[in-house]
Amino acid sequence: MAKATKKYVYYFGGKRADGKAEMKELLGGKGANLAEMVNIGLPVPAGFTITTEVCTAYYKNNKKYPKELDKQVKDALAKVEKEMGAKFGDSKNPLLVSVRSGARASMPGMMETILNVGLNNVTREALIAKTGNARFVYDSHRRLIQMYSDVVMEKAAGIEPAEGMGVRHQLEKELEKMKQSRGVKADTELTADDLKELIEIYKAKVLEVLGVPFPESPIEQMWGAVAAVFQSWMGRRAISYRKFEGIPDEWGTAVSVQSMVFGNMGDTSATGVAFTRNPATGQNYFYGEWLPNAQGEDVVAGIRTPNPINEVGKSEHTEHLPSLETAMAVTYKQLNKIQHTLENHYHDMLDVEFTIQEGRLFMLQCRVGKRNGPAAVKMALDMHKERLISKEDAVSRVQPSQLDELLHPIIDPAVEKTSSIIAKGLPAGPGGATGRVVFSANDAVAWAKEGKKVILVREETNPEDIEGMRSAEAILTGRGGMTSHAALVARGWGKCCIVGAGSIKINYPEKYFTVGGVTVKEGDWLTLNGSKGTVYQGELPMIKAAEENPDFVAFMSLCDQVRKLKVRTNADTPEDAAKARAFGAEGIGLFRTEHMFYGKNAEAPLFLLRKMICSNTVDERRSALDELFPFAKDNVKGTMEAMDGYPVTFRTLDPPLHEFVPTRTDEREKLAASLGISLEELNERAELLHESNPMMGHRGVRLGITYPEITEMQVRAIFEATAELLAEGKKPFPEIMIPVTCHVNEIKDQYVIINRIHDEVCAKFGLKKIAHLTGTMIEIPRAALTADKIAEVAQFFSFGTNDLTQMGFGFSRDDIGSFLPVYLEKKILPEDPFQSIDQAAIGKLMQIAVEGGRSTRPDLKIGICGEHGGEPKSIEFCHKIGLNYVSCSPFRVPIARLASAQAAVKELKAGKAKVKKPVKKVVKKVVKKTVKKTARKK
Ligand code: PEP
Ligand code: MG
Repeated sequence: MAKATKKYVYYFGGKRADGKAEMKELLGGKGANLAEMVNIGLPVPAGFTITTEVCTAYYKNNKKYPKELDKQVKDALAKVEKEMGAKFGDSKNPLLVSVRSGARASMPGMMETILNVGLNNVTREALIAKTGNARFVYDSHRRLIQMYSDVVMEKAAGIEPAEGMGVRHQLEKELEKMKQSRGVKADTELTADDLKELIEIYKAKVLEVLGVPFPESPIEQMWGAVAAVFQSWMGRRAISYRKFEGIPDEWGTAVSVQSMVFGNMGDTSATGVAFTRNPATGQNYFYGEWLPNAQGEDVVAGIRTPNPINEVGKSEHTEHLPSLETAMAVTYKQLNKIQHTLENHYHDMLDVEFTIQEGRLFMLQCRVGKRNGPAAVKMALDMHKERLISKEDAVSRVQPSQLDELLHPIIDPAVEKTSSIIAKGLPAGPGGATGRVVFSANDAVAWAKEGKKVILVREETNPEDIEGMRSAEAILTGRGGMTSHAALVARGWGKCCIVGAGSIKINYPEKYFTVGGVTVKEGDWLTLNGSKGTVYQGELPMIKAAEENPDFVAFMSLCDQVRKLKVRTNADTPEDAAKARAFGAEGIGLFRTEHMFYGKNAEAPLFLLRKMICSNTVDERRSALDELFPFAKDNVKGTMEAMDGYPVTFRTLDPPLHEFVPTRTDEREKLAASLGISLEELNERAELLHESNPMMGHRGVRLGITYPEITEMQVRAIFEATAELLAEGKKPFPEIMIPVTCHVNEIKDQYVIINRIHDEVCAKFGLKKIAHLTGTMIEIPRAALTADKIAEVAQFFSFGTNDLTQMGFGFSRDDIGSFLPVYLEKKILPEDPFQSIDQAAIGKLMQIAVEGGRSTRPDLKIGICGEHGGEPKSIEFCHKIGLNYVSCSPFRVPIARLASAQAAVKELKAGKAKVKKPVKKVVKKVVKKTVKKTARKK
């Protein structure tokens, strides 16, 4: 039997498509959704998609295509021609196509699109005869030359012209010259004859600049455009975008070749971009922009500021502009119906591109729309309320990083009210930001590297500016609408951004802008309100506002209904504990006692700690510890009070000792005097404390074993504080945690002390017992491997994944800066293991510890308190291996609540997928029962 040929080309058009929405990996987002729109009966110009596999093969085989491709493209093109009733390259009835990129994940503006492919001196005359619109045809032709020579003949060919010498720029100059010579301002004022002449000027210029003639053959144009799209996948800006977004190079892009329809055929034609809901606020109304007599690039490139699509979407800046709803009422109605159909079909907010050709509507693209954090939260909540999506889907609709945006600062409203606005634009990215003004992406990168906060101010942005936009706190542009490049990219990142602030006049060479009577120079401070679109001079103060946002609170509560992991916080002061509690923390997973010596009001206890460290005898040490005791008790008590009703895990002291010894002579003198010794003796004692490798030195439990009086003091502070709170009617629940454990005997040693002090405090306060737990950190590989033994005494485990990573890799936490960046760049490690758990090895150690610990003590409570406890991927891993809780810094608590919920949903969905078939008939009754149960729970 002959081997079946692989399918590389997927047709779509008329009433049927070869592909469907689920085929994004193969057809890219654009190709898959075009197919889906055809399948649900929407008007889509016919075309075909060349798969991502061709892109991968193209790069693997030295930029050669699979041999079957040519025939498959020919066959698909024939079908398109049949459907559209026109022929590609035909001298009487020519078909034109657009060639567009489409990766699996959307990469707005990062790759190439070429329109009007197939036009030459012959086909254009046929098109004029057919449409009777010479001006439009010549305009399309000159646009093709401009776009194609830039994208295909220059960029894809690897030519890197000097600044301002690129072919596109040179052609634009010719256009300007032509306008000047005709005494007109707008492109649209040039006549058909002018444009016809311009085409010949363009062709001559292309030959002069690039040394090769512009291709006349339509088929050559099409293949050139296809290759350029594949080339653009490996272009600098696409690579750098993928790096930021974590998109693998191996995915490749698909190419969609689609029949052209024209929005620039006169006043009954138009083009636009729209969202099924407002992507900046999440509000549920059809939101978009359109331009009459224009092609899609005019809207997206921000060259002309577009009109609002409907009346409800008008703002004070756009009030005076005509909406599509009033200008083309019938077509608008049809479009509005389609957007409802699409949202109901996809169960999500979509972003659509459409073109109206002489009154006839065509859908050119649809995809799940990018949205900022606040909008994502609002849409998820609303769609859940509207019964469009389940609560599991709702919690999956917000990226953990987007939640972060809700936690982002806003301008202090009191100050903002009294500040005068110097400019207004469109509110494209949320929140407030303040920084120094720079006028180029390169400067933004350079200044940010020096640690300066910058605001990038540009006429408009383009994909070349991507790194500068990333480095900036916020972006301000003079031109463009809500779907311009700057707005799309900033929204995707949740970055503060204002676009289309038309009143600012930028002087790039002299690096300043003017607005009204104000001049703002490079380096001057500027403040933006990206939610309102207002610009202020100077540095306005910022505040955080998330906890009071009702959407945020409601969304978090949805997450809590779904998640299984508990979320605690790492906090060591009453203030941090209160903050974390407001963010939803359900206890403290790590109270680092040594932190009371760093922060506010730390001077007195720090002095006493130093005294304790530099003590030489038990008596000296005891006397210093006695003085330290009231400070420790206060801090412990205040923190438990702030977390009342929830557990607080107190870790016994774990400081690198020598770090606490003062280096300044005056401080050493004071310390010596307090200890009643000479400076020389103190210096000698300090010298003895020096360690070659303090991270593996005299720290953690080792300290408690060698100096039991330290553990005694801390444990007494904890139990006495608990006893006092109990007497006050509070509900404290302390957990005492031993750090840096490697052997079960270490814990046994400390338990003797803990139990003795417990009994002493009970006697002092007349209590029978004080409820508490005693457990250990698992942060040394030996502890993980002997967890079964350790669990014989420890009542809980908490993974210290900072140290576990350090000890597991043998990478010093403090010294990775010199080599880790190179490891990441060379892809020796896929990511920084101190940020995301290395599941292959450190994760394996954790799994061994979980299994070992629970083999001895089945109800062993296990958590994580290393930095990874707030990182979404690591949280998912913790969920998978059956931890009870994660603990992270206060500001990451909401993110951890969301990530835990998403981990639970993933598990649920994977489980459903697995059991779906066998369950169907056999256990009908049981299924019913379960459904009832869950329904009752709600
Ligand atoms: C850890 O090692 O992960 C941990 C939480 O402890 P520390 O960072 O204080 O060493
Ligand atoms: Mg540690």
